Amino acid sequence: MTDSPAEQKACQQKKPLWAEREQVLLAPYAMFSVQSKGRQSPEPLHPYRSPFQRDRDRILHSSAFRRLSGKMQVFTGDMGDYHRTRLTHTHEVSTIARTIGRVLRLNEDLIEALALLHDIGHPPFGHSGEDVLNRCLHDQGGFSHNQFALTLVEELEKRYTPYPGLNLSREILEGQVFRITHQAQAPLLEVQVVDWADSIAYNAHDADDALKLGLLRMEQLEPLDLVQRALASQANGQPDSSPVALRQRLVHQLIDVQVVDLLDSTRKLFESIVSLDRQTVQEQGVHLHLSPKISEERKTFARFLFDNVYRHPELIAVREVAASQVRELFEFLTGDRDRLPSRFQLRAETVGLARAAGEYIGGMTDRFFHQQYRQLVIEDTPAATDWD
Ligand code: MG
Repeated sequence: MTDSPAEQKACQQKKPLWAEREQVLLAPYAMFSVQSKGRQSPEPLHPYRSPFQRDRDRILHSSAFRRLSGKMQVFTGDMGDYHRTRLTHTHEVSTIARTIGRVLRLNEDLIEALALLHDIGHPPFGHSGEDVLNRCLHDQGGFSHNQFALTLVEELEKRYTPYPGLNLSREILEGQVFRITHQAQAPLLEVQVVDWADSIAYNAHDADDALKLGLLRMEQLEPLDLVQRALASQANGQPDSSPVALRQRLVHQLIDVQVVDLLDSTRKLFESIVSLDRQTVQEQGVHLHLSPKISEERKTFARFLFDNVYRHPELIAVREVAASQVRELFEFLTGDRDRLPSRFQLRAETVGLARAAGEYIGGMTDRFFHQQYRQLVIEDTPAATDWD
């Protein structure tokens, strides 16, 4: 097979431009693209895009990524149009993570790829959808969104290439495996940054969305130390004290307070490891951390959200309906395999009918689920539609 012009150029070039750029910009403890363990199916290097840039683009262009726009983060589409979806959450995580990564001189392309991937495996209806599928697939090893993300990018996504999946770099896949196993050894610093950005983003924007939707009142949040700290840090020069302006400033400052604390707390640590390479840093188990004070305040804030937002009666009611419908559709499809789209009937031959049905449901957006539920379970139409 003849190499493409880009591949030929890559072979001719001694050091690609992206490798030179990383050499100048990244700290020794960062994950350099040239040190990547490569892909399951080897591919020639590209002269102008680093392997992690290509990973990011493959994720961004995948069907699974686009479906994030139709999946709820915490609040369903029935509750309004202006709160976060999994897609907007993903972009918030990406931008926070890249900010942290840039300050610490880590590999931003790797960080962005990991961030875009991190929620791709969520089924419809968030954690309630996941809990039901996990129970439905109990005898087949359960269902987890982190595991399903790997199934999507390693098996179910299709590209123009002969191999299945997106053929991502091993560092991306290992970062996702860490989200499942939380193995003892410290993961890449880039993986840790995305984990921090995820929790900083969702704590702040879930509070923001809950306020906007009227599930929470500002007076309930104000006694919390982290909220007081955030509000105090933006008091000067902010004359607009309307509820909307206050809410907007709160979410901004909640994120900023935590990101700045994370960077302040780890700055000394990073000064001490600045001459160490990535492998040594991993062997030493270096972890990013907040200051003890903010860490405690964050825990209290997270507990408050758990009790007052995630367990809000309005949310629980929506989730219960969704959960029973997910179970109903799962039982319907496993009771009549011919109703599955042909691709999943074929897949059932290798992974079993229950898993194939779980994967089919897991890949749906919330609205697509409602459509399929109505057509199949209520109207008894002959066959389901594939989401790809
Ligand atoms: Mg997330």
